[in-house]
Amino acid sequence: MSKGVSHKSAVGDAIIRATGLSKIYTQGPQPVEVLRGIDLEVGAGETIAIVGASGSGKSTLLHTLSGLDTPTFGTVLINGQNIASLGEAEKGMLRNRALGFVYQFHHLLPEFTALENVAMPLLIRRDDRKAALGAALEALTTVGLGARAHHTPGELSGGERQRAAIARALVTRPQCVLADEPTGNLDRETARTVFEVMLELQRRAGTSFVVVTHDRELASRMDRVMELNAGRLTAAARQSGT
Ligand code: ADP
Ligand code: MG
Repeated sequence: MSKGVSHKSAVGDAIIRATGLSKIYTQGPQPVEVLRGIDLEVGAGETIAIVGASGSGKSTLLHTLSGLDTPTFGTVLINGQNIASLGEAEKGMLRNRALGFVYQFHHLLPEFTALENVAMPLLIRRDDRKAALGAALEALTTVGLGARAHHTPGELSGGERQRAAIARALVTRPQCVLADEPTGNLDRETARTVFEVMLELQRRAGTSFVVVTHDRELASRMDRVMELNAGRLTAAARQSGT
């Protein structure tokens, strides 16, 4: 790969391009091959759902796509840059610039307000505090929580907390958000609202989403549904009637 650093990929619009990803865990009594030669391309503004049984490797795949975990074989390009060729600091900067993360548990800090929590990724990278809080309010407003900015997580409902977590993922204006079962702890109706927020952000800001979910009906609202099974990723059959 060339060393010339550019923001856009030279090979089309893919934000993440994974080729031949394999992951073998060797910690246990015998090696476990969790991913077996996975290819995946996440286009600009594309929404992808990843479904699969518990333990099928969905979290491992997301961690590998984001550079948090290293594949045993294969390569991941983010904006055309091979993340294996970068040092930890450079990799961190590329991840922070290009990607946002949402988890099953919101991981909001209980002693801070929603506004401060959402501003946190900007404050951590030492952005100006006033600008950070302004951007955080904008992100909260985007997910419909502008009026709850000064509430602490304990004063928000489960769905509101997950929307705040999405706002926190968006505050850096990532090109792609990786979400690991973001609605796993929510009831059906609330989960639907949170999905609506993500789809609206795709429409409005062109943010790509890669979302792991157990919910086939919600998954079917994404552009593509991929199923992870026995270490391989294939297009899932479309659900009818939705
Ligand atoms: P999912 O998110 O689909 O539930 P995971 O990616 O968490 O699946 O895990 C996939 C498989 O890899 C599981 O069998 C799990 O036990 C195993 N695994 C995950 N992380 C590790 C690790 N750090 N060391 C060893 N095995 C692991
Ligand atoms: Mg998981």
